[in-house]
Amino acid sequence: MTAPAFGAIEAGGTKVVCAVGAGPDDIRAETVIPTAAPGETLGAAVAFFRDHGPLAALGIAAFGPLDLDPASPTWGRVTTTPKPGWAGADLAGPFRRALGVPVAVDTDVNGAALAEHRWGAGRGADPFVYLTVGTGIGGGAVVHGRAVHGLVHPEMGHLRVPRDPRADPFRGACPYHADCLEGLASGVAIARRWGAPAEALPAGHPAWDLEARYLACGLVAVIAVLSPRRIAVGGGVMRAAHLLGRVRRDVGELLGGYLDAPALRDGLEQYIVPPALGERAGVLGALALAADAAAAQTAR
Ligand code: ZN
Repeated sequence: MTAPAFGAIEAGGTKVVCAVGAGPDDIRAETVIPTAAPGETLGAAVAFFRDHGPLAALGIAAFGPLDLDPASPTWGRVTTTPKPGWAGADLAGPFRRALGVPVAVDTDVNGAALAEHRWGAGRGADPFVYLTVGTGIGGGAVVHGRAVHGLVHPEMGHLRVPRDPRADPFRGACPYHADCLEGLASGVAIARRWGAPAEALPAGHPAWDLEARYLACGLVAVIAVLSPRRIAVGGGVMRAAHLLGRVRRDVGELLGGYLDAPALRDGLEQYIVPPALGERAGVLGALALAADAAAAQTAR
């Protein structure tokens, strides 16, 4: 008997990846749709899933911010986004109506956290945190096997981290907070501060000690609040191979020996790790969301 198929959508700013399958090793169909106007893009996705059904459930991991409050009349919609046409766009509705299956929606980074927890770098670790450091900074947390959200969803990129204006006169790139973590340590912040993108900066450049420090400050805050058993740090900025080691070093230093756990001794190599699923984390996260939605439906 073939395992039931789930639909997965990774909705990004430039493209939407749609897949049908039952797991990372069982993807039965996949397509990529350019992100245009919502009606056009979601319509093309609906058509793809109609062609490759039936599905047991559908999961959507999307750029946000999103309304994820199940009690809200606008659940499953994008809230505020500068992306033209997408503010208020209903992500879940068109699929529910057209396919008649349970639809789960979460942020792209929560989806990636869920996928890494289930199939990648976070296997066996709960709580587990996934932080991505790219154009922006985002973090997802899995607690008791589920991605955390509540009032809204975690926004780890906007943690406040200390900036010493003498050591770093750059005021920060976040339009809301200036020198929050994303404002200081995202790819955009690096490019603005140094006048060159992260990938153009050599390992000996002073950018990297500063970058490691800010990321470590953010991670220490996350460790203090959530007590994760493992953290994966990915994204474009982390392609600098020397960076993760510096981040581990600074996290160890900033923790100051206060937290007494074996995972935090001996260099943190097994504690702060690179992600394992790479570019696949988003769409696999959506698949995990779909599987959970189908399981919840069956349990009801
Ligand atoms: Zn911010």
